[in-house]
Amino acid sequence: MARKLDITVKMGCKVDCRFCPQKLALSRYFKDNPKRESVLSFENFKTMVDKTPSDVQIVFSGMCEPFLNEHCIEMIEYAANAGRDVDVYSTLLGMSMEHYQRLKKLKLHIFVLHAADKDMNAKIPVTDEYLKVLDSIAEDHKNGSFHITTISVHGDYHPQIVDIMKKVPDVPVLREIYDRAGNIEDKDGITTYVKEEKKGALACSKCNGLKLDINYILPDGTMLMCPMDWGMENVLGNLLTESYEDLSEGKIKQDYRAKMSSEDAKILCRLCHASQPLNVYKKAEAKAKFKQSIKKLLGRA
Ligand code: SF4
Ligand code: SF4
Repeated sequence: MARKLDITVKMGCKVDCRFCPQKLALSRYFKDNPKRESVLSFENFKTMVDKTPSDVQIVFSGMCEPFLNEHCIEMIEYAANAGRDVDVYSTLLGMSMEHYQRLKKLKLHIFVLHAADKDMNAKIPVTDEYLKVLDSIAEDHKNGSFHITTISVHGDYHPQIVDIMKKVPDVPVLREIYDRAGNIEDKDGITTYVKEEKKGALACSKCNGLKLDINYILPDGTMLMCPMDWGMENVLGNLLTESYEDLSEGKIKQDYRAKMSSEDAKILCRLCHASQPLNVYKKAEAKAKFKQSIKKLLGRA
């Protein structure tokens, strides 16, 4: 799996889903400085993309719906036109029809649609504009001019979108809600969570084992080690002022790896759905590599 920079374009997501630790993220981000930069500027986004190696994928997801930043579409265009693999995860809140027409022209690596559900677990406002954009996306997926990789919906579809979603029966649907490594206190009966701390050496199935190279970027350039770290416990540094290489292989990550390899050092991974026993991860990794080499050999034959 490629290494990724997952961009938070803004602090404070007004979708405010029932299963999202927004309060925790806001209280930690502004704890020491209430005036900290809350919106990522286009200039700073460009600086950070330009500083990262070209194989690092740029992901629009993070701690906020990406289209709630008015420059989101320019950012996506910039990264895609720079030849980067770009993943977009969106509820469509803030995405106008004009934004969608521009998005559609780009070659995206992944587009994940977060859809409105009947119980409003994801509190996506079902407005006329939302329905129009959603319908265009579904039609375009059907006629092959746009591709929805996955749909994430936390319950049954909202009654107003049921007919639209019938146009995309071939898209895989994810319904599970995780508690982000114990970061949601009021699980409200809707999340899947790890009930007992995992013991022993662990690896991450989401962030490439012990590489831990799926990192979050916050609006002021802060780089967090892991996508579940909504309490901001593991800050690697600031990508606007430091190099990607220094942040990626610095002391914080090395110390964290040592804790992952220990029996029971206190770390987020012990309560995270994405962690696995290290030996299980290594076996799966070796199997995947073996399969890959067989494929290559067959390809050559
Ligand atoms: S859209 Fe995403 S970031 Fe925003 S509240 Fe919902 S889960 Fe959280
Ligand atoms: S908490 Fe650990 S296992 Fe979970 S995503 Fe982060 S690094 Fe991976």
